[in-house]
Amino acid sequence: MYKSHKKNKKYSPVPAVYLHIPFCRKICPFCSFAVCKDHSDLHSKYITEMLKEISMIVEEIKGMNQKESELQKNNGHKLLESIYVGGGTPSRLSIPELSKLLSKVREHLPCSKNVEITFEMNPEDVSPEYLNNLAKIGVNRLSLGGQSFRDSLLRKLGRCHDASDLRKACEEIVNSPFQNWNIDLMFGIPGQSVSMFKKDVEAAISYKPNHISLYGLEIHDRTPFGKNMQICKWVNEHHEQYEEMYIWAINRLEAEGLIQYEVSNFSEKGNESRNNLLVWSGKEYLGFGAGAHSYYERTRKGNIGSVKPYISHLKKNTLPVEFEEQLSSTQLAVEFLMLGLRSSEGVNLQGWIERFELEWSTQEEQYVNSLYEQGHALKKDNHFCLTPKGMLIADKITVQMMPSNSSH
Ligand code: SF4
Repeated sequence: MYKSHKKNKKYSPVPAVYLHIPFCRKICPFCSFAVCKDHSDLHSKYITEMLKEISMIVEEIKGMNQKESELQKNNGHKLLESIYVGGGTPSRLSIPELSKLLSKVREHLPCSKNVEITFEMNPEDVSPEYLNNLAKIGVNRLSLGGQSFRDSLLRKLGRCHDASDLRKACEEIVNSPFQNWNIDLMFGIPGQSVSMFKKDVEAAISYKPNHISLYGLEIHDRTPFGKNMQICKWVNEHHEQYEEMYIWAINRLEAEGLIQYEVSNFSEKGNESRNNLLVWSGKEYLGFGAGAHSYYERTRKGNIGSVKPYISHLKKNTLPVEFEEQLSSTQLAVEFLMLGLRSSEGVNLQGWIERFELEWSTQEEQYVNSLYEQGHALKKDNHFCLTPKGMLIADKITVQMMPSNSSH
């Protein structure tokens, strides 16, 4: 039940917030996110309920903590460091709609003076006026869903933009108040040769973004791509090419000063996405909106992904929670290892074993040694780190490295 608590005004219980905007002009055939086709009449209903969700969750958390000193002691957070507006396509929102959401977050969660506010945009929505207005309401980092600079590949991916829209969007961002921005590129697209991919990376570099994310195309069963035999066959037959693209890009981006700090993310030093760093280092965060996830007090929560049920739950003043689980020590150990292995810093294995009281047998020891021998891992500053080849199979390595007596 929704109760109001007027306590703890000075502290934010978490350092990071995620706001999910599910609307997309049309649904791309590979997409497995919580999305829906955009109808402008849905916007105001969705935003109204999302504002309610923010109030309900924050007040509930504040109600759990009796005193400000307790909140500070328990969580060690003082101010919000990052707001990430993702989707879906957040740039389907009007400036007043976005402004309402940001104001609500600021009202409930005190922000650090230099809070990073990232906003995801699709190229067809970029315009000088929209960019200037985003800057005026406090957005200070952009992430552009470019994917490719080649029309044939963009058509295959079912995107709404073409290469000239993407080039125009990049130019407009370069000439805007935004210094801090990312381009998403995709590789492993059916029909994409290595040389096509290299040209995409070069095109992205030419606009000098200080962050690039590279995503290998993933095929999910329930999507149109997952049901398309030809696409699945192409992906299965092109693993080597996929590997070649990825390893080439790591070296090429590094030469441009964009250093890999995670499996898919490359940035100038100091310009890593703050949201990424906070979430991947195991810090707590709150997610609002359909399908959004939160992690707070060792509990992982996920919202219902469909927009209409999300709205109707909140209309009745009930939280739209689809699942909620308290993470066991084994689950925390897996997460810690998974996040560590995906980062370029790697993991101090001895520290990890001791922290989670794991029983490490010769079987796991041998597996780690085989990773060194196969060139999938190396030792750096006493940390176990994956090489680019190992990063490609980071999730598989995580599962294999968990002690066999753990139930995971
Ligand atoms: S625009 Fe992005 S979020 Fe929307 S359907 Fe396409 S891939 Fe999914």
